[in-house]
Amino acid sequence: MSTTERPRILVVGGGYVGLYAARRILKKMRYGEATVTVVDPRSYMTYQPFLPEAAAGSISPRHVVVPLRRVLPKAEVLTGRVTTIDQDRKVATVAPIVGETYELPFDYLVIAMGAVSRTFPIPGLAEQGIGMKGIEESIGLRNHVLEQLDKADSTTDEAVRRKALTFVFVGGGFAGAETIGEVEDMARDAAKYYTNVKREDMRFILVDAADKILPEVGPKLGAYGKEHLEGRGVEIYLSTSMDSCVDGHVVLKNGLEVDSSTIVWTAGVKPNPALARFGLPLGPRGHVDTSEKLQVQGTDYIWAAGDNAQVPDLVGRKAGNPNAWCPPNAQHALRQAKVLGDNVISGMRGFPQKEYSHANKGAVAGLGLHKGVAMIVVGKVKIKLKGRLAWYMHRGYHGMAMPTWNRKIRVFADWTLAMFLKREVVSLGAMETPREEFYEAAKPAPAPAAVKTEGEKARAS
Ligand SMILES: Cc1cc2nc3c(=O)[nH]c(=O)nc-3n(C[C@H](O)[C@H](O)[C@H](O)COP(=O)(O)OP(=O)(O)OC[C@H]3O[C@@H](n4cnc5c(N)ncnc54)[C@H](O)[C@@H]3O)c2cc1C
Repeated sequence: MSTTERPRILVVGGGYVGLYAARRILKKMRYGEATVTVVDPRSYMTYQPFLPEAAAGSISPRHVVVPLRRVLPKAEVLTGRVTTIDQDRKVATVAPIVGETYELPFDYLVIAMGAVSRTFPIPGLAEQGIGMKGIEESIGLRNHVLEQLDKADSTTDEAVRRKALTFVFVGGGFAGAETIGEVEDMARDAAKYYTNVKREDMRFILVDAADKILPEVGPKLGAYGKEHLEGRGVEIYLSTSMDSCVDGHVVLKNGLEVDSSTIVWTAGVKPNPALARFGLPLGPRGHVDTSEKLQVQGTDYIWAAGDNAQVPDLVGRKAGNPNAWCPPNAQHALRQAKVLGDNVISGMRGFPQKEYSHANKGAVAGLGLHKGVAMIVVGKVKIKLKGRLAWYMHRGYHGMAMPTWNRKIRVFADWTLAMFLKREVVSLGAMETPREEFYEAAKPAPAPAAVKTEGEKARAS
């Protein structure tokens, strides 16, 4: 951490909002006007809409993340977690990835810590479940699913095989529907290489407490997405929830019980709970309460946006809904970050703040190779697409929305290579314990048992 005479703009979180806001501020700032410091426990930003494709092996995991130090060369990037904020002293406490915590003074503050998986106290969930919020989970899920196929192919125990080949996904929004669509597609592809595993042997189950899936694309396309997944053999249980999953024994409220080694939890998100320690005004669901100018209510030097903020949706409010808030998605996060960056610069220079207003442009979702749904809003018209065309829209949109040309080119290259070389279906589960084999080879040999003399043998017997 550098000590500086210039004012410090502290950006807490280097995800969508943090990265784009920092870039905007650096672009608009005069030379030496301020120090921009970005703190994040990860040294990279994750493009979350590509996590399902990374789990399916359609994109290399490294290409889904953007190294912060590389794209923000003029910023100070610190790898650690902001644990508290002292507003009176204008000081943040940072817990670095290693070593003692320290205090970081700031003049202006941007809160961009995103969201975490929203969970419930369901017995077994913490031990058995895996989320879909980070690249680590996406790689873990891919290795795990392929490992289940390896297990099922090689065991003679029918119960082990059944459990390995049953995959349960809880939550049918964007993240859940896309992930089950992509993973089912990969497993179907991979099954071609296994002698004892066929697609029909696998059970894919999607559970949601709501009465529909994919609410983001509207009821008609959501219904199409459901029919499409069911056509591929996915069992979908709506208006029900998971009661427990102790040791992988899944019990649903509707009475269904299955044993499963794979329980993927994608039942929504909630604002980062660390916000509760920051002393900022919070909304009823734990978001930082911001004005339409993205300023935290009651402050003139703190801004917030993205999944951790409740930002008034001015378009919805103009249309007559006084309680409209911007939904937590990348579409808003990206645009809010740019307005936020401009407002930080204006705030620093004593100029007026801009309002954030954005009309929904629609949504696209991929459900596996060549399959998808898309709802594009043009003026007052909603264009609904499904199947291959929607999938091209999904890839085109997200491919271009991926930050930096370096990453865009890598993602398009992955897709192009996969067209000719087919998808990778190898499980590298052992990556999680890379030192195990070396340890076995290098660990000290046990002391050899002492050779007993004839006399000692006789005494012992
Ligand atoms: C699987 C999946 C698919 C999605 N698909 C779509 C889609 O198709 N379209 C769409 O519009 N949206 C999609 N989204 C939502 C979209 O990705 C999010 O809305 C967006 O990432 C929000 O940006 P953010 O900056 O608020 O949060 P994030 O991008 O999550 O960034 C938050 C950052 O804060 C950091 N952080 C956390 N705690 C601390 C701390 N204490 N100190 C410092 N830093 C901290 C985190 O490490 C992270 O880097 C998807 C999300 C998921 C999970």
